[in-house]
Amino acid sequence: MHCPFCSATDTKVIDSRLVADGSQVRRRRECVECGERYTTFETAELVMPRVVKNDASRQPFDERKLRGGFMRAVEKRPVSVEAVEEAISHITSKLRSKGEREVSSKEIGELVMNELRKLDDVAYVRFASVYRRFQDVQEFSDEIAKMQLKP
Ligand SMILES: [Zn+2]
Repeated sequence: MHCPFCSATDTKVIDSRLVADGSQVRRRRECVECGERYTTFETAELVMPRVVKNDASRQPFDERKLRGGFMRAVEKRPVSVEAVEEAISHITSKLRSKGEREVSSKEIGELVMNELRKLDDVAYVRFASVYRRFQDVQEFSDEIAKMQLKP
């Protein structure tokens, strides 16, 4: 980053240590130009990206909605609550690790379908049929064909 005193672009790190139980890195920097010293803190950005809907409106990520979608899909299917929670945490950590500020609802839908496909075929079709609305008949039969190919 630029020196806050003289705006020089070149600063060097003279000390680096973990703080706040290791969740932050504190760096002592020195400007190569003016010699001023300053401190920066680095933390992982753990906020969830905002969700961009099909109509381009933005909404905060809502884990309860995600869970609701899963529960509807796996209703009366032999899928444990633990398996659903695990799938949800896969998705949220994937979204966090992307580090993007926004994610499309379509992309979240794809992540859900990937997880459901691993859990239960019926749940997967239920979700997919609602989620994609199968505007494209070819796409629908492709999905069915893919499932029939599974051992
Ligand atoms: Zn400087």
